[in-house]
Amino acid sequence: MGARETLERLVVDVPDFPEPGVVFKDITPVLADHAALSEIVEALAAAGRDESGSTVVDAVVGMEARGFILAAPVALALGAGFVPVRKAGKLPRAAYAESYDLEYGQATLEMHEDALAPGARVLLVDDVLATGGTVAATVRLVERAGAVAVAASVLMELSFLAGRETIGDLPLTSLLTV
Ligand code: IMP
Repeated sequence: MGARETLERLVVDVPDFPEPGVVFKDITPVLADHAALSEIVEALAAAGRDESGSTVVDAVVGMEARGFILAAPVALALGAGFVPVRKAGKLPRAAYAESYDLEYGQATLEMHEDALAPGARVLLVDDVLATGGTVAATVRLVERAGAVAVAASVLMELSFLAGRETIGDLPLTSLLTV
């Protein structure tokens, strides 16, 4: 069985969460299953390796909150460091900020200014790509630091929200497209 089948088996659709009309993809059953967790971490990490299996990234950036859970073990699997991208006001030291539009209002993501070395090659990891706003804002944060976003890995892509168009040329690995 592959990662896609594992996600199809374990991700739970929750209607009307967090608000009416939204079907929330709950990944917690995937996290709770050791075999499934190992499989999806390995599959997400593949985007940070070349054909011979060598790691081609220096850091893995994970976005608050579920991206943290996945990006840290991906970083360990790749022998790379982990860098958190957080919601506004959570990081304690000087941080770059990038905002993006939500359906209602705006969201802001932040990353410590010294989190990435200039020229560092970075893999972005999150659970779900929806509109793509989160990944696109994170790419801008990585670029503000003078680093290079080389690819993004997500568990699931909600294709009806066209996130791929928002993230442009960034290579995207999604383990399950719905
Ligand atoms: P985007 O910025 O619209 O692409 O939304 C992606 C962000 O929203 C990710 O950080 C996800 O964690 C979160 N998200 C959106 N929809 C879902 C969902 O159905 N399940 C879990 N997270 C979601």
